[in-house]
Amino acid sequence: MRRREQVLESRIERIKRKLHALGDLRPGSLSKQYNVCGVEGCRCKASPPKKHGPYYQLSFTRKGKGTSRFVRREEVAIVRRQLQSYAKLRTLVDDWIDAAMELSTLRLEQQRQRGAAAPRSSART
Ligand SMILES: [Zn+2]
Repeated sequence: MRRREQVLESRIERIKRKLHALGDLRPGSLSKQYNVCGVEGCRCKASPPKKHGPYYQLSFTRKGKGTSRFVRREEVAIVRRQLQSYAKLRTLVDDWIDAAMELSTLRLEQQRQRGAAAPRSSART
């Protein structure tokens, strides 16, 4: 049991180090869009149409509120990295919770065993 505890402790330490190393992050997802304009005779109304775009839209939900905004083409790569960092954050936190739950249960069991051992040792003395 002691060993399992150490395994879990070092797993949590590793997670913390990875969290510490995370760069800029943001929640959401990127989508690509093509639009049609209002200009008469524009290529976007030809047949076949050549629509304008792509435009990149970032959608995210924060505190129950959904929002979206456009992202400049030259900033798409940066935003993608930020989104990936956020995904990594969620995975790491989830792993931490799994390890922490098991570790907490182990500690409670140890506490209980110490509690159960105490009266017996006091009876012996
Ligand atoms: Zn057009």
